[in-house]
Amino acid sequence: MTPVTTFSGRKVALFGLGGSGLATVHALCAGGADVLAWDDSPESQARAREQGVTVSDLRSADWSGLSALILAPGVPLTHPVPHWTVDLAKSAGIEIIGDVELFCRERARIAPDAPFVAITGTNGKSTTTALIAHILREAGRDVQMGGNIGTAILSLAPPADDRVHVIELSSFQIDLTPSLAPSIGVLLNITPDHLDRHGTMENYAAIKERLIVGSSLAVVGVDDLPSRAVADRHSGPLVRVGVARQDVDGLTVRDASVRGRSGEIIADVSGIGSLRGAHNWQNAAVAIAVAQALAVADGQIDAALHSFPGLPHRMEEVGRRGRVLFVNDSKATNADSTEKALTAFHDVHWILGGKPKEGGIEMLEPLFGRVAHAYLIGAASDAFAATLEGRVAYTRCVTLEVATRRAAEAAGLSEAPEPVVLLSPACASYDQFRSFEDRGDQFRTLVHALV
Ligand code: ADP
Repeated sequence: MTPVTTFSGRKVALFGLGGSGLATVHALCAGGADVLAWDDSPESQARAREQGVTVSDLRSADWSGLSALILAPGVPLTHPVPHWTVDLAKSAGIEIIGDVELFCRERARIAPDAPFVAITGTNGKSTTTALIAHILREAGRDVQMGGNIGTAILSLAPPADDRVHVIELSSFQIDLTPSLAPSIGVLLNITPDHLDRHGTMENYAAIKERLIVGSSLAVVGVDDLPSRAVADRHSGPLVRVGVARQDVDGLTVRDASVRGRSGEIIADVSGIGSLRGAHNWQNAAVAIAVAQALAVADGQIDAALHSFPGLPHRMEEVGRRGRVLFVNDSKATNADSTEKALTAFHDVHWILGGKPKEGGIEMLEPLFGRVAHAYLIGAASDAFAATLEGRVAYTRCVTLEVATRRAAEAAGLSEAPEPVVLLSPACASYDQFRSFEDRGDQFRTLVHALV
């Protein structure tokens, strides 16, 4: 845990008692603050009490005696409307910040030179964060990884000069971190997302840009226009990373080869199962730029890329039977993500469906030639059948269990060199599963039983 000492002896309000909220209460109390902690949900209140947290109703609190409102990142700060605690904090004239801000202030106080890598972007944050942490660990560094991925930032060990914090940040977290100043700031990409929470694309991009502006060294993927504009405006030390664009003064990737400024090959990621697809080349190149900046030798970086296990549910190889490869891409909850998986494979026995998203799978039509057969599950079956009709052979399977069995049988009969049974649903999971993780875990279990 990183005790938060910057509010020692003062009283603060905290709203949002999920995982990171609870960790923040503990860290604030350990540092000597008096915390009024609250959540609108009775279940969260009960869970907090079980953990020994005193829950205080902020609706009846005296806000004039409070120094700050610590807000969980899932709680609306501005859009669609500010949460009621935000209005009360503004009326009381107190600052509204998040747990990452508390970490940054603690770092500034106890170890201002401690290496702190902060990663953001619309897509690829978790993969890149995990990959950077993996490379640094393989190089023997003391690494703390967390933030938007896995462990809450204040549950990690405190910053220290010989310890690297590798932290994934969503735009919500950045929005609550006014003094964000990482030693290395990473921006992977910016495409429209979460606009319900950020209002406009300009606002969304501006929040992400703040991470770069505060960085001692910036690493920016420049394939999309908003990110490229961020790089062009940046005046400090900067490494640009281009995959779709090769006219870049920085790292580029062509045919899975990551190249340095003078065209020399730093690493070849072809054949690394956990880094398939051009989107993962971007993640790999960005991770390489960070590792180089932290003085990891190129040979060590290359070896660590090859031993990267990847993250569950993102084009995760979960088994082989004969020539057939089984891939769990349950995280693909929309057609954009499924496009990445279909692009990475041929001879695909594609399991898809679930709770449909707007736009369906029409945009995937150019990739239908890669699909040997489609297996439909869940609520989207009728809509997807209509899109596939006459273009891709399909079977309505209703459940994941039937789909997996049918796909495995058909793929086993295929004469292709590496037929793939791919769960990449292009849908949310909530019609049949608790979450995309639950869906992917069930698929993995079904595959293990088959192989
Ligand atoms: P995030 O943490 O930003 O949600 P993940 O690393 O969990 O990102 O990847 C989620 C999905 O986003 C992947 O399954 C893939 O479809 C897509 N993706 C991953 N990396 C990138 C990237 N660099 N550019 C575009 N899409 C990506």
